Amino acid sequence: MPKRIVVLGPPGVGKGTQAKLLSERKRIPTISTGDLLRKSIADGTPLGNTVKEYVESGKLVPDAVITEVVEEWLDSEEAKEGFLLDGFPRTIAQAESLEQILNRQSQKLDCVLYFIAPLDVVKERLFNRAKIEGRSDDTPELIEKRFSVYRQQTEPLVEFYRSRGLLLEVDCTGSIEEVYEKVKSAICS
Ligand code: ADP
Repeated sequence: MPKRIVVLGPPGVGKGTQAKLLSERKRIPTISTGDLLRKSIADGTPLGNTVKEYVESGKLVPDAVITEVVEEWLDSEEAKEGFLLDGFPRTIAQAESLEQILNRQSQKLDCVLYFIAPLDVVKERLFNRAKIEGRSDDTPELIEKRFSVYRQQTEPLVEFYRSRGLLLEVDCTGSIEEVYEKVKSAICS
């Protein structure tokens, strides 16, 4: 069973849902940067105030800001025996920082779960989630914006991790439990 996992994929692909399931069922400590940033904003913490404008306009927060948060967590007792990163890295610079942090800890990633689904499926999921959860960055304009940010800044990570032999592709169509079965067979293969 891999112990140091990154989940990667476009908005709406359900990677957050699968990350939660894996984390609960396999007891892997997990950080979701999107959840963490939204909570910081809701709580009005200094971090929340710094990132509010970025998150609420569908942009990425600066690499240095998010990397510091993740680095602190990776250095904590909680993440010592293994971790799952949901929402980080999201740029090549973040991925390089992650490599450096893990090198310093004499650790390395075991795998990157790359969630793929047809664009119309992910868009439909996002618009449905927008109706149910009322997330402030889930308006149609911001959904489009997050897709374009994903394509420009995050998609290059697919090749970055593929070239390192870490990429495991998971097809995200199907029910939550069906996708979870695919996740398990990908990581246990
Ligand atoms: P999505 O459902 O679009 O994948 P997330 O919940 O993961 O969104 O993240 C929501 C927002 O939080 C992003 O649009 C971005 O503003 C910010 N964010 C989350 N993770 C990062 C990161 N690693 N680097 C920069 N910004 C981030």
